[in-house]
Amino acid sequence: MIEYTSTRNADIRVRSGKAILDGQAQGGGLYVPADIDAIKADWRSIIKKDFRGMAKDVWNIFFDDYGEEKIDELVEASYKDKFAAADITPLVKTGDAWVLELWHGPTSAFKDVALSALPNLMSAARSMNGFTDDIMILTATSGDTGSAAIQGFRDVPGTGIIVFYPHGGVSDTQRLQMVTPDSSNVTACAIRGNFDDAQTGVKKLFREIPQPAAGVSLSSANSINIGRLVPQIVYYFSAYGQLVKSGVIAEGDRIDFVVPTGNFGDIMAGWYALKMGLPVGRLVCASNKNDVLTEFLNTGHYDRKREFYKTTSPSMDILVSSNLERLLWYICGPEHTVQYMKQLEETGEYQITDNELFEMQKVFTGVFASDDEGAAAIKEVFDAEHYLMDTHTSIAWACMEKYRSGDAPAGTVPFGSDAKEAVVLSTASPYKFSAAVLRALGEELTGSDEGNMKKVREITGAEVPAGLAGILSKPVIHKDVIDIPDMKDYVIEKCTK
Ligand SMILES: *Cc1c(COP(=O)(O)O)cnc(C)c1O
Repeated sequence: MIEYTSTRNADIRVRSGKAILDGQAQGGGLYVPADIDAIKADWRSIIKKDFRGMAKDVWNIFFDDYGEEKIDELVEASYKDKFAAADITPLVKTGDAWVLELWHGPTSAFKDVALSALPNLMSAARSMNGFTDDIMILTATSGDTGSAAIQGFRDVPGTGIIVFYPHGGVSDTQRLQMVTPDSSNVTACAIRGNFDDAQTGVKKLFREIPQPAAGVSLSSANSINIGRLVPQIVYYFSAYGQLVKSGVIAEGDRIDFVVPTGNFGDIMAGWYALKMGLPVGRLVCASNKNDVLTEFLNTGHYDRKREFYKTTSPSMDILVSSNLERLLWYICGPEHTVQYMKQLEETGEYQITDNELFEMQKVFTGVFASDDEGAAAIKEVFDAEHYLMDTHTSIAWACMEKYRSGDAPAGTVPFGSDAKEAVVLSTASPYKFSAAVLRALGEELTGSDEGNMKKVREITGAEVPAGLAGILSKPVIHKDVIDIPDMKDYVIEKCTK
C-alpha cells in the first residue's frame, strides 16, 4: 500500500485519490510516497508491454487505492484516440543518440501526456472520496499549459476549467489553441496584464474564494500534483523497452536520460523510474540561460536572486523549480527540507550539505546551454540528420554534447556513466515554435505563424500535427478580455451558471 505524506508535515498521511484531489498538501508541502522502497517494481515485466500496459502497471503501484479495474478504464480513457503515434511516445534514432518524442498529443507538447491523465484521475477520485461538488480548475498560463489543460479537461464529467492568459502575451498559435475549443465546460479568458499578473491573480482567487458557489470547489492542474507526475514515469519505461525490443541494448544495460528542465517535474519522474528499479544511468538536468539548477547541482547552492532571462525555450524560463522539493525530501530528509524551503522563501537562497550534494551527484548532472548553442544544435542536427528539433529539445541536445565531451562548466560532471546509450527527451513539436526554429536554420520568417508552419513543412516534408493545422481555420469561441480586479467576479459567475 502506498501512503502519501507531505514534504513539510510528516503527520499528513493520505492515499493517492485524496492527494490528487488536494493537489498541494495543507501547509504548502508537496505529496510524496512516504516509503520509497514501496514503489519497487518488476521492471523487466513492465518493459515488455505496450505504452498503455506500462501505464497500467505504473499507475497501479502509485494509485493503488483506485483498484485495477478502474485503472484499466482510466488509462484507456486517457490515451485512446488522443495521440497521433500508436506507441504514444516513439523513440527516434538521431545521430549517435536517441530522441524520445513526447509531443504527439493534442497540443503538440509533452504536457499532454500528463494532462490527458490528470482529469480522469481527478474525476474518479471525486467519486471514490464521496466528493459531490463539481471541480472547477483555475489555471494561469504563459501559453503551453493552458491549451494542454483545456484538451485534458474538456468534456470530463464533474469538472470545468477556466484558463487565464496574458492579453497580447502569447503567440497566435498558442492563443488559437485556447480560444477555439468549443466544449461547454471550458473557458479561456485574456487578462490585461502579463503572465506574472495572471498567476498572482489566480493564487489570490484561491485565497479569496475557496468556495465560489454551492456545489463547486476550486482546484488547480499545475505540475506539483502527483497525478501529473506519475503518468510521466511511464515514458522512461517506454524508452527503455523500445531499446531492448529493437536489440540496441540488453536487459539490465543502463541508459542516460537528458531532460530539458523547468519545474523539475519531468526529470523527477525519471528519478522515480530509477527508484522503481529501471536501469537508469545518469539524469542530465538540461537548463537554458536560466541556469539556477546547473549551479545547484554543481555547488549545492540554490539561488533564485539572479537575473531572469526570456529565452527561445520559454517553458524552461523558471527560477523556482517547485518539484525539486520532492527530491530534497528524499535526499536531505524532512527537517532540512522544511529549513531550506523556509530559507528560500525568506532570503531567496539555501545551501545543502556536502553529503547531500554528493548523494544528488550520484545520479544528477546539471548542464546549461544558451539560446545560441541551442540554435546551433537545431541547425547541426538538421543538416546532418534531416531531423528537426524544437527550441527546448535543442537545449537538451546541446547539453548532452557538453556532458559527453566533458566540456561542461567546471565541476558539473563529477561522475562518469557506464551507460550504453543516451536518450534526449523531446518536449515539443518543432511546429509549435516555428519562428525560432526557422531563425535557427537561417531561413527568412514569413510574418505569420501559419506561414512559418507552412515553411517548416516545405523544409522538412513532415506533416503539420493535426491539432495545430486545424486551429488556424476554426472559429474563435472565447473572446473575453478582462481587467485583473474583475477576475474574482468572473470566476464566481462562471461557477454559478
Ligand atoms: C513544461 C515544459 C518543459 C519543462 O518541464 P518541467 O517538468 O517543468 O521540468 C520543457 N519543455 C517544454 C516544451 C515544456 O512545455
